[in-house]
Amino acid sequence: MINHHIFPLLQCPTCRVRPLIVETGGVRCPRCQTLYPFCDGYIDLMPRGAEFDYVSKYVSDEEQLAAELDYRELAPPLLAAGVRDRMLRRLMRWSKNDVALDNGCGTAKHAVWNAKYVKMMVGTDPATLFADEAARTVTLTKADSRLLPFADNSFDKVFAIDILEHFPLPVIDAYLAESARVLRPGGRMLAFSNTRERSPIQPLIDISRHIGRLFVKAGIYDFEREKLRKSDHVKALERWEDVVAAFERAGLRPVKVVFWNSLFTTFVEHVLMKLGESIIGRTRGRKPAGDVPTRVSAGAAREIRARQRMRAHLRAKGPVYYALLAVTLLMELDLWLFGWMRCGSYFILVEKPRQ
Ligand SMILES: [Zn+2]
Repeated sequence: MINHHIFPLLQCPTCRVRPLIVETGGVRCPRCQTLYPFCDGYIDLMPRGAEFDYVSKYVSDEEQLAAELDYRELAPPLLAAGVRDRMLRRLMRWSKNDVALDNGCGTAKHAVWNAKYVKMMVGTDPATLFADEAARTVTLTKADSRLLPFADNSFDKVFAIDILEHFPLPVIDAYLAESARVLRPGGRMLAFSNTRERSPIQPLIDISRHIGRLFVKAGIYDFEREKLRKSDHVKALERWEDVVAAFERAGLRPVKVVFWNSLFTTFVEHVLMKLGESIIGRTRGRKPAGDVPTRVSAGAAREIRARQRMRAHLRAKGPVYYALLAVTLLMELDLWLFGWMRCGSYFILVEKPRQ
């Protein structure tokens, strides 16, 4: 769904002129005459003629990832995604007048889950792995985060979930500078990402990882999809000081920080849920719930099958939904108990100062 309130905010990502002229097939730049077409559920606002050295794996391997990530249908916000989403809501403090940007939205799940709290939710990503529901409820643009197609000071809130760990340093700087540019003075940005720092309670956390590995050895499950999702993590911001410095270079002032020491979370992800998936995702004696793409590992296929079956349960908001919600709250306990304790995973809330 393209909300027409987006049009006055658009500017040409190629020559930075605005406003763009709205035509039937797209929006046109009055200077360079580029037509940015309306596509299936989104506007293609990629800059023309710009060459970048760095392209995210999500863009270069879009077709392969589309098959493996099972992205078109969204589950409710539960488990790790649920914890991130609850934190996003708590720290962003949405208002009904907010114009918000999910910068690097991926499937746009967080944009979908939060769209009802704001005036307009915009999602942008260079890869178009948008969920079907996102195309219906969020204003989606295909764009490069280094040359955002929006005017200065367009947004009250911007968020970046699981983005910064994918970029080398010059891309992080360009990404944050553009995020700061489109944020209005006094506007706030939330980022969730990871450095390379270890948690002070890492030895305790590792107990769950160890148990998980024993199950892998026993062939009960594997972590193929986790590996795929994390395969292009660069973590150029290695230490917490690097994170703060990067935001300050972009002119963004830290307001609040919560660390995620994943004691309960790792137990849930490496033991509890993987056991559940291996039971629910078994093929023997069960009808397949849907299409599982070929060309994926046995573990990935089992996880996709488990997810498809789970979604059918979750849509009904029955006992399975409430059981997973309880597990989500258990994971969130990590933030309440250990959020003050510096470690690799962090939520940072920053503000663009009023001049
Ligand atoms: Zn132009």
